Amino acid sequence: MRKESAKAKKVRLKKILEIFNLEYPKVTIQLNFESPFQLLVATILSAQCTDKRVNIITEKLFKKYKEPLDYAEIPSEELEKFIFSAGFYKAKTKNIKAAAKKLIDEYNSELPDTMEELLKLPGVGRKTANVILGHCFDTPGIVVDTHVIRISNRLGLVESKNPEKIEFELMEILPKEKWVIFTHYLINHGRKVCKSRNPDCLNCKISYLCPSANKFN
Ligand code: SF4
Repeated sequence: MRKESAKAKKVRLKKILEIFNLEYPKVTIQLNFESPFQLLVATILSAQCTDKRVNIITEKLFKKYKEPLDYAEIPSEELEKFIFSAGFYKAKTKNIKAAAKKLIDEYNSELPDTMEELLKLPGVGRKTANVILGHCFDTPGIVVDTHVIRISNRLGLVESKNPEKIEFELMEILPKEKWVIFTHYLINHGRKVCKSRNPDCLNCKISYLCPSANKFN
């Protein structure tokens, strides 16, 4: 089969975006936060955990502990108790405390606003950095999570499981102003229709634009 050109992918993607805009008109980040630092904590907690669960945890956590200094000073055992149900609580506690200390020591307790500097914080990879840049600093990035990996492959937009490669390939074919919302579209579509197992291609509004539609029926 002939490889689809970037130009053809852009045209197809434009139509997909138009349909997603109608299907998911109010999509946005599901994590609750009131500051860039709180979003950092919530995003670290969200690894291998649902946003719903994270919001339950942070509702109590953020009432008591708000700033980096609070997290630098809280005993590990105490933080572990708070975040236990998020899973990987020991590693997450370690990262949150270490990130808080680094922010205090090197950034005057503020979150930096560049990818390069965010990546220096413990527990922060490109995915977390893009979440923070896109939602706190008006610097669009494409967050590549499990839904984005799965669906962008099924849609034939990329052919890779490597999040960084996917991020850069999508940046080539997506208009920059759509980078942030694209992730939210795919997360919604992944939860509701294009599930990991048994995607509902018969009821998928973009099936006529998807080269994988016949594979699952
Ligand atoms: S047609 Fe099927 S595989 Fe393609 S996006 Fe829709 S649900 Fe996913």
